[in-house]
Amino acid sequence: MAVNEHEETRARLPLAAAGALEAGEREQIERHLAGCAACAAEWERWRLCGLLLKRLPTPQPSPLVVERARARAVARLLETSDERSTQVGILLAVLVAWTLTLGSGVVVLVLTRGIAAAAELFTGNGWLWVAAYTTAGWFLAAVASAVLGRRYRTSRGLA
Ligand SMILES: [Zn+2]
Repeated sequence: MAVNEHEETRARLPLAAAGALEAGEREQIERHLAGCAACAAEWERWRLCGLLLKRLPTPQPSPLVVERARARAVARLLETSDERSTQVGILLAVLVAWTLTLGSGVVVLVLTRGIAAAAELFTGNGWLWVAAYTTAGWFLAAVASAVLGRRYRTSRGLA
């Protein structure tokens, strides 16, 4: 028998005792042990060691500790999703502010150059752009208030 095979077998005995080997590896070791008294004796020591370890009581965390850890994990999870919805809300609020700023350009145009200049915006396909722009602005405002409202309810524990 090759020296290498003895070494390989002995190196795997602790894993075999822990039941951590694949079926193929286990069979390979069993074949070797059947024909090698020295390794079989070594295996017997590891097997006993594994049995004794299994008899030791496994430390169990108290239900209080488990519950505290679970509550902390849930709180952390809610905090993270809260931060994310706040960021989305702020981003949408910025977009709404930006939209309103650009929209006020029309008002400024009316005030400085008269209604005729502003009316030119609505000639041809211009009115389509103005309508789309206004719709997008209102849509952004609606989404922003929905997100911020949801965040408010969550922070108050209402949702
Ligand atoms: Zn051997």
